[in-house]
Amino acid sequence: MNVHDSEKIAGILTAKNYELAYNPNEADLIIFNTCSIRQKAEQKFYSQLGKLKILKKKNPKLKIAVAGCIAQQEGDNLIKKVPYVDHVLGPQNLEFFNNIFEEKEKILALEENPHLQYLELPIKRIDKVKAFVNIMYGCDNFCSYCIVPFTRGRERSRPSSAIIKEVKQLSEQGFKEVILLGQNVNSYKSQYDFPGLLRELNRVGENIKRIRFVTSHPKDFSLDLIHAIRDLDKVCEHIHLPLQSGSDKILELMNRKYSFKEYMKKIEILKKEIPNIAITSDIISGFPQETEEDHKQTINALREIEFDGIFAFKFSKRRGTKASQMEGHIAEEVKSERLSEILKIQDEITERKNKELEGTIQEILIEGFSEKSADQLTGRTRTNKIFVSQKSNKILPGDIVKALIIKGNKHSIFGNFLI
Ligand code: SF4
Repeated sequence: MNVHDSEKIAGILTAKNYELAYNPNEADLIIFNTCSIRQKAEQKFYSQLGKLKILKKKNPKLKIAVAGCIAQQEGDNLIKKVPYVDHVLGPQNLEFFNNIFEEKEKILALEENPHLQYLELPIKRIDKVKAFVNIMYGCDNFCSYCIVPFTRGRERSRPSSAIIKEVKQLSEQGFKEVILLGQNVNSYKSQYDFPGLLRELNRVGENIKRIRFVTSHPKDFSLDLIHAIRDLDKVCEHIHLPLQSGSDKILELMNRKYSFKEYMKKIEILKKEIPNIAITSDIISGFPQETEEDHKQTINALREIEFDGIFAFKFSKRRGTKASQMEGHIAEEVKSERLSEILKIQDEITERKNKELEGTIQEILIEGFSEKSADQLTGRTRTNKIFVSQKSNKILPGDIVKALIIKGNKHSIFGNFLI
């Protein structure tokens, strides 16, 4: 979501003929698009911001803007704390970037924007193959650990017609994949519901070959959506379904509104209806009041479900959330131990699942050249596994090709193109 917001900020400014500077010394305006989902992201931001003090002294004309969730949370406190910050813009107020160079006073834009879903901002996309498309903004779920409903506001769905139009344009521009974005896409509601929107999008744009979406809240994950993934040729066989914990007690404290049994039931239907589905998830380790027994239940859940991959993090206290006020916070070293165990077990499962692909033929969308070696191309399977191969003169980013998988590793699969 933040990456796409950055594309919108860049879109607004390039539409006004400003150019990206590749060195902070050359910039007239430095923008931080911040994330406050975990403490570590916040610390990183403050450390980078601190480094700009000297630059600002050398060049008093330089402006510094802070956007995103830290901006929303801190508001004018940020300017009080760091006086050389010029502008503070929350994630619902990106259109203020339109006048950022003309504005003589400090901008403080933090209001809830009730029209956000109707706002069509220019976008400067960083990728030429895959494109993010917002389908909704905000969240109504108030998971007890999460800051998003406070920073991004209430849930609002973008009109289906605007989404369909954007996907058609992306197809005309040659994009191959769209990634639909929402905090909880399953509760999308406009002219169509979410499975209905997928059915419409599956019909438009002949260049678009793949449709993905993030994120699905398990409580709203419906049979109709499972059928849409199963039946629609462009919708990829991958679902990210955050479990967070295998313990019902912790799920309740998290306000997740499902039990482990209910979650499992949906996983079973999903695996039965779409046998080649890849399932990934999020796990929080060391939530307040998590006992060894609760942690064991999460470990058991990982073994039972066998996710293709997970994002797992230690619980991070976020100011203003219910969880931050709870009793029974877990010591850092215990959180770290539990996280290590979770990651170790999941790594084994992921590697084993990737090895199971050896000898199979997979459809790969080539995304670009490997960061590790310019002699290698990278892409993804429909199930969202990272694929690596030696480069071929006949294959370019954006191509969809068949490949024989010869090696499954922990974080990627390696193969040869069948051409
Ligand atoms: S569903 Fe829960 S975790 Fe996800 S954004 Fe909403 S409140 Fe946060």
